Amino acid sequence: MKSVCVFTGSNRGVSDAYATFAEQLGQEITNRGMGLVYGASRVGLMGVIADAVLAAGGHVVGVIPEALRKKELMHEGLTETHVVKSMHERKALFAELSDGFVAMPGGLGTLEELFEVLTWAQLGFHNRPVGLLNVSGYYDELLRFLDQTVAQGFVHRKHRSMMLIDEEPAALLDAMADYRPASVSKWIDQADEL
Ligand code: AMP
Repeated sequence: MKSVCVFTGSNRGVSDAYATFAEQLGQEITNRGMGLVYGASRVGLMGVIADAVLAAGGHVVGVIPEALRKKELMHEGLTETHVVKSMHERKALFAELSDGFVAMPGGLGTLEELFEVLTWAQLGFHNRPVGLLNVSGYYDELLRFLDQTVAQGFVHRKHRSMMLIDEEPAALLDAMADYRPASVSKWIDQADEL
């Protein structure tokens, strides 16, 4: 992987651990010679990870829709910034510019971005790794719910396990580097093992 797209909160969350891990992930990405692609905001964990990569001498590409830029939330110090017309255009560019995706703790925007790249992977539109950095168990409840989607026959087990999960940035990036995409049909044959 040459560049990793990170989805994370435009807020910092209540625990300082989130910012600490955003910094660690930024440093780890940079130490491996990779660049960061993200939503170009200067606020919340988004700003924290961008600043960590820049401070380590790394490369940060931001992609931001015009409407958010006007709200003056854009980070002004990035290596490269693309201002696009819509959220849809932004996500298409994220996908084009990135060799893998990581979701850190975040809110609705982060969840939407995570599930979009997972659904695209499930349909075979891309075969890049998708990682979840589960800082301090933030995503434990969501992971339990995803087990339920498998148990109830709505998600194939192999699609559920496409999402790589770790609490440590280094281990997560290692797993993403080793990722081999499974080729599984989206539609669950009822005779299939669930
Ligand atoms: P949320 O998790 O709801 O805070 O949203 C964060 C995600 O949505 C990020 O990964 C961004 O791509 C996008 N996003 C939300 N708010 C902003 C913002 N103010 N500027 C840029 N991107 C944002």
